[in-house]
Amino acid sequence: MSLNSKNSEYTIVGAGLAGTVLAWQFLKRNIPFSLIDAGENQSTTTAAGVVNPIVFKRLTKSWKVDELLPYADEFYTELEDKLGVELLLRKNLLRIFASVEEENNWSVKEGDDRFTTYLDRPDNLEITGVNQQYGAGLVKTIGHLKTTIFIEESHRYFQSLGYLVEKRSFDYDEVDANKQYIFCEGVAVQNNPYFTFLPLKPTHGEVLIIRSTTLKVNHIVNRNMFIQPLENDLFKLGATYNWELNEPICTEEGKADLLERFEQFVDCEYEVVDQLAGIRPTVKDRRPLIGSHPQKENLHVFNGMGTKGVMIAPFFANQFADALLGVAPLDKEVDIRRFWPE
Ligand SMILES: Cc1cc2nc3c(=O)[nH]c(=O)nc-3n(C[C@H](O)[C@H](O)[C@H](O)COP(=O)(O)OP(=O)(O)OC[C@H]3O[C@@H](n4cnc5c(N)ncnc54)[C@H](O)[C@@H]3O)c2cc1C
Repeated sequence: MSLNSKNSEYTIVGAGLAGTVLAWQFLKRNIPFSLIDAGENQSTTTAAGVVNPIVFKRLTKSWKVDELLPYADEFYTELEDKLGVELLLRKNLLRIFASVEEENNWSVKEGDDRFTTYLDRPDNLEITGVNQQYGAGLVKTIGHLKTTIFIEESHRYFQSLGYLVEKRSFDYDEVDANKQYIFCEGVAVQNNPYFTFLPLKPTHGEVLIIRSTTLKVNHIVNRNMFIQPLENDLFKLGATYNWELNEPICTEEGKADLLERFEQFVDCEYEVVDQLAGIRPTVKDRRPLIGSHPQKENLHVFNGMGTKGVMIAPFFANQFADALLGVAPLDKEVDIRRFWPE
């Protein structure tokens, strides 16, 4: 995939989380780029942006977390310094146990060296309104990314340096064989005639914003859902997973589902103030979709960030930028060669 051409002109189509993170990696390497985004963000601005290193269902570590999380931490922290804004709201995750068995499993894993970086017990729960009869465990993490601020501030910064950030829809007829294109279109890659072979399996998701003056939590709380403390007594509740809906629409079913799960373990007064929906670019084999078109060497994708894009995107954008320059290989697990038509 080596292009061996630092001066080739790259157009990044789609400037959600994936396209924006990739643009930062280009900037680091002095690779000229322009960004085009239709402003129809499907996923990034809805996302809770939580970085969760643990798969609670099986109490295992998330895929490649030991590499991905430290890299993401360093990446966003460096940008906070550069942009002069807070991008990460640094909070740990509080896992509320649903049973004695879960508490026991946690104790076992907590004693396992491979988990000591992530699992702990909270000293002081500092929560009111949450039913925690079986106790709780602490997951050490970097909190959540303020996704909208990250996107807006990054684009402003790129523009201040003279990079073109256009707000418009890209038409595939515009493809020029002498230029390089990286498609970071999220679920809209399904409309891209060059990459119809990619097995995207989009996942619709909804979140609620509630206001409560009686719910007091100082961590991101998780039990069958997450409760994310925001400012001014506001909390984000999420999320739903629906594989049938293809439009980012809010539904009564989604709202009812979230409130039912919330009320199962929280007892507080609240009002719902907003509901948001998006579609995650998830993939059949749950791995990102990165790499080049099998015949057209000027067309590439950086997509499939799935349910954990905030943690995954920085590491693989770094690797992809190196691969494009021919200085390091792309991980086979994420390379779209695995889906190239025979
Ligand atoms: C409800 C919900 C909760 C989530 N929670 C988390 C979480 O807690 N933690 C986490 O890490 N991840 C979470 N995610 C997943 C996360 O949002 C994604 O991994 C990530 O945002 C995907 O980014 P993206 O840039 O690939 O896609 P998108 O954000 O959809 O961006 C794609 C962009 O491409 C543009 N585009 C597409 N086609 C064109 C075209 N032809 N011309 C111009 N522009 C185009 C669109 O306008 C859009 O802005 C969640 C997602 C949802 C929906």
